[in-house]
Formats: sequence, structure tokens, C-alpha cells
Amino acid sequence: MGRIAYVNGRFVPQGEAVVHIEDRGYQFADAVYEVWALFDGKLADAEGHFARLERSLSELAIPMPMTRAALTLVLKEAVRRNRVREGLLYLQVSRGVAPRDHAFPNPAVRPAVIMTVSATDRIASEARAAKGVSVVTTPENRWGRCDIKTVSLLPNALAKQKARAAGAAEAWFVDELGFVTEGASSNAWIVDEDGRLRTRDTNANILRGITRGSLLEVIRHEGLEVDERPFTPADALAAKEAFITGAGTLVLPVIAVDGKPVGEGKPGPVAAKLRRLYIEQAKAAAI
Ligand code: PMP
Repeated sequence: MGRIAYVNGRFVPQGEAVVHIEDRGYQFADAVYEVWALFDGKLADAEGHFARLERSLSELAIPMPMTRAALTLVLKEAVRRNRVREGLLYLQVSRGVAPRDHAFPNPAVRPAVIMTVSATDRIASEARAAKGVSVVTTPENRWGRCDIKTVSLLPNALAKQKARAAGAAEAWFVDELGFVTEGASSNAWIVDEDGRLRTRDTNANILRGITRGSLLEVIRHEGLEVDERPFTPADALAAKEAFITGAGTLVLPVIAVDGKPVGEGKPGPVAAKLRRLYIEQAKAAAI
């Protein structure tokens, strides 16, 4: 069965789905997006992703294109029409279509909305998690509002390409003080030498990962020690374990940074346990 996309009120075969060339998302990256993991056809961390979507839109003064309830219905319909059980749901909302001018259209235009759904092979993703992946580091060169989930993703794309070219799965941005901020499309974590979980705090210029937030709750519930304190690539190499989080990667062990092994150079027990616990709770709470 072919994939079905949603474009501004219509479900269409994905191969025929088109957006206007003067869509401001296309012209200016004047748009925001969200990605939900799908478990058994249901949206994981739904509340967190909706809340961030509303916040991202609000920061850019783009109105919600429809109520949250209506949006939920359409998102679920997109999943249903694609018959995807395990996968990802992508939503993009741009400021809309207007003659090209950097300033916002006045009067305002209707936001443009597109959705796509893709299937993931959960067995392959578990096999990958069992093996762990590598990351490389790259200087932090993105803008000062990484907390907004915008589609201005060029630095992220370049960083990811750098990782790919090095045979790694992810790139970790390192700021001018030498601390890791986050990944090109994930948040970065270590289990430090003292066994404490460490991840960058959200006052830093990073995206507030929804998976990160949910995992923090899981961690606290387990009574594990967590420290939202910056770490350097050297700290990561000296750590017991490292991992990344995101709707796409869930909790994915990192076994090497810049070609050097983390801990014993293989996935550790903490990341494996947190992956299992995160998936369990996300599945249970998926709507
Ligand atoms: N940081 C960046 C830069 C990302 O693109 C993502 C993926 N959306 C994340 C972190 C992880 O966020 P989430 O857990 O909400 O998917």
C-alpha cells in the first residue's frame, strides 16, 4: 500500500502531495514541526509533543492551525490511513503561503499543515540498540533559539552528514566552553564515573527533548541519581556509558565518541534498562 500524506485538509497519495512554492516554510524555514513515535499505532508522549508544538508556534506568533482535539483526530486519521503500527508521525506547520517578503504577511494568512507517516522496523531498531552506535563531535554553530523546534535545520543537517561520513550515527554539538549541548537530532546523556546520569540542562541553548523529559521522570521514579550538568567529550570517554534520546531513537546507547570507546565500548546495563523502561511507560501512556 502506498503512503498517504495530509496536505492542508486533504489526504492524498504521498507521491502526489505538493506544497506551494511560496510556502514560508520552504522559503524561510518559517515553520515548526513535531515528530511522534508510534507504538501499536498510538502516539507516544502525545501531551509533551502537543505542548511543545503550541509553544514553538506561539514563540513564532503562528496560530495553532486547528484545536488540539481536531489536530489529534487528523493525526490519528493519518496514522490509520497509512496502517502503521510502529513508526513515526511527522507534522509540519508553516506560517502559510504569501508573496515572498521577509516580514510576516499582513494581514496574516492561514498556516499550512502537512503530515506524513512512516513505518519503522522495531526488531531492527532493537537489534541496533543491542549493539549501540557511535557519535562524532562538532562545534556548536547553530543559532541562539535552539529551544524552538523550527525547520531551520541546516547546521543539524551538516553535522549529521559529518557523522555519516565518519561512519557514526549522530553528531554531538560542543559549545565554546567545550561542553556537549545536544545531538543533531537527539539529546545527549552519559552515566558518569560515579554512576550518575548526566544531561545538559534546559537553560542551555538546546531543544527541550520530549523523550528527555519523559526519561527524566522514569529515572526519578526508579530513584536513580541524575545531574542536569554539562559534560565534555572527555567526560563522555571517561564515563561508564553514554546514550542519546529522541522520538526517533528512543534511548540509544552510544559506544564511541570521535572514534574512541565509551566505557568498555559496548552498550551498558543502565542505557539498556532505561530504554526498556522508557518504552514500557511510553507504550502504556500512548494515546
Ligand atoms: N535535539 C534536537 C536538535 C532534535 O532535533 C531532537 C529530535 N526532535 C531532539 C533533541 C530530541 O527531541 P524529542 O525527544 O522531542 O524527539
